[in-house]
Amino acid sequence: MRRAIYPGSFDPITYGHLDILSRALRIFDEVIIAVARNENKSPLFTQEERVSLNREAIRELPDHERVKVGSLNGLLVEYAKEKEAATIIRGLRAVSDFEFEFQLALMNRKLEPKIDTIFLMPKDNYTYLSSSIIKEIAKMGGNVDCFVPPCVQKALKKKIFHTNL
Ligand code: ADP
Repeated sequence: MRRAIYPGSFDPITYGHLDILSRALRIFDEVIIAVARNENKSPLFTQEERVSLNREAIRELPDHERVKVGSLNGLLVEYAKEKEAATIIRGLRAVSDFEFEFQLALMNRKLEPKIDTIFLMPKDNYTYLSSSIIKEIAKMGGNVDCFVPPCVQKALKKKIFHTNL
């Protein structure tokens, strides 16, 4: 069983994340999305909300039964070992992502030499997409329908404008 971990804040999950996930599913038998607590990033959604939004959002993928969603509260490499996953998946959108991702991958390898990081590139029209931009647009009342799944659109409206539309 080839199993990989896809860690991140997913605040909220976007079509960019889902694109990376579907590419990872072509390589691995099972992918575990690890939703990091990341309190230092002051997330808009709680970790529990992000876990349940991810569970709902992945239903759009044809292979979603091979995806699990969990909460990450400790060290990523420890989580990967506990789940018997030898690979960490990260997405690379642009060169600007590279420096930080490279540092993170080498640090994780130092902490656990048997675990490797694989970088996947999204479809070109998702390269400029990030959760932060989505939150900014949504807060200003902009339309994010082509960037996030319907459950996320609904959750953003509810969180920002306290509406149930
Ligand atoms: P983190 O706080 O760990 O960066 P994110 O949820 O922002 O969490 O991102 C998780 C992973 O998904 C990262 O590797 C990031 O580069 C990748 N990612 C985020 N958005 C996209 C996108 N639009 N296309 C490809 N990869 C993405």
